[in-house]
Amino acid sequence: MIVDRFNRIHTYLRISLTDHCNLRCSYCMPDEDMAFTPPARLMQKEEIVTLARLFVAEGVNRIRLTGGEPLVRKDAGEIILGLSALPVSLHITTNATRIHEFIEVLKRAGVRTVNVSLDTLNRQKFLKITRRDYFDRVMENISLLLGAGFAVKINTVLMKGTNDDELNDFVQWTKNEPLHVRFIEFMPFTGNRWLNDQVVTWRDMLERIRQIYHLVPLPGEPHDTAKSYAIPNHRGSVSVISTMSAPFCGSCNRMRLTADGKMKNCLFSTHEADLLGVLRKGGNVRELVYSCIADKAEKLGGQLHGAFREIDTSTLINRTMIAIGG
Ligand code: SAM
Ligand code: SF4
Repeated sequence: MIVDRFNRIHTYLRISLTDHCNLRCSYCMPDEDMAFTPPARLMQKEEIVTLARLFVAEGVNRIRLTGGEPLVRKDAGEIILGLSALPVSLHITTNATRIHEFIEVLKRAGVRTVNVSLDTLNRQKFLKITRRDYFDRVMENISLLLGAGFAVKINTVLMKGTNDDELNDFVQWTKNEPLHVRFIEFMPFTGNRWLNDQVVTWRDMLERIRQIYHLVPLPGEPHDTAKSYAIPNHRGSVSVISTMSAPFCGSCNRMRLTADGKMKNCLFSTHEADLLGVLRKGGNVRELVYSCIADKAEKLGGQLHGAFREIDTSTLINRTMIAIGG
């Protein structure tokens, strides 16, 4: 078992398949052209499966594929099927622009829940936030997923002055659609021009939803990052994720593998362990995994001390979100 100094058992691995993306979400990546990792430096499909197998042997039972956009990778289907042979529950977070090409693969791989990122229900605003014109395609693909029987979770990063006016439009969407909408607090990463006064806290979110809707708390699971609620007579449900204003580090069971094969023990960790480099040299990857987890800080990668309203992003050491893998 992969256990850290604070007795947290790590059973969940998030693997980034690529740092490339066909959208340009302003909160995830810098405005200026990103220097994407050249393909030779990315983990190759066999390397991904080999590293995943090693983690599974150490107790990982849940894997999420993310990115960048995992489905822009040409061999994404083969990787998904390769990982589906492991004894894990397999999940994916996607912008849904290419779901129509992968729906059969996802079914065959036994993926049951798909997390789709969508920050607005307005076509023009989608273009403004993502800088790409894919709104109709994303909405069609969400319907496609629901029609094919997948459970769909919508990830919505709520930003003051950008899309917080749509909070209750998203809640209303769950009346007739069996969607689970997750409202996420806006987090700071290199190049995303985060300002603390743009964060809508989970408390603010709930207060604003409760002005219109009756929220009924749903039971949580041990490692849940979300507080979830049903709404009477709605087919779907909602949740709030409090990363900034009330971090849930105490029950963290997550590890991350970046697309270039570096292990991060936390989204905000400064240290990275080069698993791919060691794998390619035939070294002891297992040992490196354990030393990386032994370094895990108690909270937020040992950065972002104090109240989030006082965070100074100029001292933050990290990659962009797109290069970490969200
Ligand atoms: N491209 C895929 C997608 O958009 O779903 C997967 C990668 S994306 C980096 C994973 C998740 O990170 C998305 O749900 C996105 O909304 C979230 N994310 C990106 N930047 C964020 C930020 N600054 N604060 C909070 N969440 C963020
Ligand atoms: Fe791409 Fe996802 Fe980042 Fe948007 S949030 S730029 S879709 S990786």
